Amino acid sequence: MVMSISGGTGRLKPVTQHSDIPEIYRDRPIGRLLEYHNLGREFEPYERAELLIGMCMDNRKHMRIPDNFAYIIRAGGANLRYSEFKVSFAIAVGGVREIALIGHTNCGMVNLISRRESFIDGLVEAAGWEREYAEQHFLHFAPMFEIGNEVDFVTSEAQRLRARYPKIPIQPMIYKVEDNLLYLVEE
Ligand SMILES: [Zn+2]
Repeated sequence: MVMSISGGTGRLKPVTQHSDIPEIYRDRPIGRLLEYHNLGREFEPYERAELLIGMCMDNRKHMRIPDNFAYIIRAGGANLRYSEFKVSFAIAVGGVREIALIGHTNCGMVNLISRRESFIDGLVEAAGWEREYAEQHFLHFAPMFEIGNEVDFVTSEAQRLRARYPKIPIQPMIYKVEDNLLYLVEE
């Protein structure tokens, strides 16, 4: 399979054993996420979530985590720029103390501009839109949702969120749809 990540794969760190989890995350929500999803840790009961997962809406991904373990915000490309109120809510009211921001390989939000024709045709044919409105819709929103490159985007998005929520540890990760595992993005 051809990887869609350009120039970013060298910065992905696999997590295949407990010692691959950075010390700062051990026995913490981010460490537990890696244990549950990658290492098959047995589920424990949770009464409240301490982790927020930001991830793409893409249908190919499913987290292996216990009930009540995490809040999840799904948005194209794991782009939380337009979900900030929900992030604030999860922290302030929901009790979230760490954030895992998870991009993925072969993301549809990469090179969005190349999907212009299928986007417009699809809205016209499947949803009954006028072609002109569909074109305007795409031109207006595509630049807001284009992410360029999965690894670079999730890294810059994590940095942006750290500036907004300075007390919350935020770790960028990549979910490889090729093996369904999480990889840490090394910054
Ligand atoms: Zn995606």
